[in-house]
Amino acid sequence: MFIYYDLIIVGGGLVGASLACALRHTGLKIAIIEVATWSQQKTPPSYDDKVIALSYASKQIFTGIGNWQTIESQATPIRQIHISDQGHFGFSHLSHQLANLPALGYVVGARQIGQALQTTLKNSAIDIIAPVQLTQIHANTQQVEIMLTQGEQLQTFQTRLLIAADGGQSQVKHLLDIQQQQYDYQQTAVIANVTLEKHHQNTAYERFTRTGPLALLPLQENHCSLVWTVKRSDIKTVMTWSDAQFLQHLQQQFGWRLGKFLKVGKRTAYPLRLMQTKSHDVPRVVVIGNAAHTLHPVSGQGLNLGLRDVASLAEVITTYGDAGSRAALQQYQIWQQPDQQQVIHLTDLLVQAFSNNLLPLVVARNIGLSLLDSLPILKKRFIRQMTGLNAHSSRLIRGLPI
Ligand SMILES: Cc1cc2nc3c(=O)[nH]c(=O)nc-3n(C[C@H](O)[C@H](O)[C@H](O)COP(=O)(O)OP(=O)(O)OC[C@H]3O[C@@H](n4cnc5c(N)ncnc54)[C@H](O)[C@@H]3O)c2cc1C
Repeated sequence: MFIYYDLIIVGGGLVGASLACALRHTGLKIAIIEVATWSQQKTPPSYDDKVIALSYASKQIFTGIGNWQTIESQATPIRQIHISDQGHFGFSHLSHQLANLPALGYVVGARQIGQALQTTLKNSAIDIIAPVQLTQIHANTQQVEIMLTQGEQLQTFQTRLLIAADGGQSQVKHLLDIQQQQYDYQQTAVIANVTLEKHHQNTAYERFTRTGPLALLPLQENHCSLVWTVKRSDIKTVMTWSDAQFLQHLQQQFGWRLGKFLKVGKRTAYPLRLMQTKSHDVPRVVVIGNAAHTLHPVSGQGLNLGLRDVASLAEVITTYGDAGSRAALQQYQIWQQPDQQQVIHLTDLLVQAFSNNLLPLVVARNIGLSLLDSLPILKKRFIRQMTGLNAHSSRLIRGLPI
């Protein structure tokens, strides 16, 4: 006996849970299928210690979903972004005033966003089926049938639209043989909270160093979240440095703009790659978030892009009577593909251009940074791209509920 749902979302991470929250008042029968244990005490791995720079468009999306107030109470606004290239003349300074926005973005923990989403889901009619193993999927033009095991128990479900939001190692894609292309940057991101001598003045710093990009995101008081990209071959050394050694190397790379680096918290390492799902013709299946595109965190765009996937897909689901139909899924691609391509290319360009010390490239990127700084039109366009505001203007991006 199949249990029927209008929509089944595989993966209750930040993207899958956001989609479910966005659709909770539509009257659709929705289930989230999650491999990890799901409770307020034991959250899915998506809600980890990472600190996320949410773009202005993401703030709008959470406003439309209805949990921005909770997230904002734990967020630090970014009012300026300072971009520089270590040891070279190029730099650029972006300000919220130029964009006519209260902030360019907001810094908040992935765990805090996840908990806000969990609370919203708890008070909704959405079923969370966890922890389960997804074992089989059969998709045809009429419906999708899936099989799950929960301990010894086998369960079968049927839906009109299956949404793969199950992250970079997507089991849905594996079972349906949906192809992807990927590139291993041979880099690892080290994240940690750091305490600085001076206050950051709500400025986010993006510094391209000889070892790789280094970002400092403003947190409460004089704390910042560090995302430091290092070569994969150096990661063992970096992780075994004492705190004093780590702070000394960091100071060398970042300089003294914020005074002395005083303290560093727990360090966590994330291997980095670029992955993009190829277009597929499996009926009634759509892939979103990190399952569709896994990005280098250099410009903090991964979740922001995933949330715009959510905004466009939620709009399609509520516009079309049959959300899994070919026409509906084509509309989703028309709205979302240009945004995905632009972000993937821009992120990759930044990583490649700033991870290379060939002289012509160094000169070109420094001229690029100087031009960006001196041409307000270029700056405004760049800010619109980084804040996500040039994406399809769905209801959620306008801050309106679905
Ligand atoms: C160091 C670092 C810094 C970052 N900083 C930023 C930033 O500043 N701004 C930004 O926008 N983005 C940032 N990102 C990217 C962001 O973290 C991701 O894009 C985002 O978390 C992706 O969410 P997701 O829900 O798509 O995928 P995931 O977080 O991977 O969640 C997938 C979910 O699916 C579940 N799942 C997996 N397999 C199955 C299965 N077989 N069945 C059922 N469920 C399954 C998992 O348990 C999980 O809950 C950063 C990433 C890194 C690594």
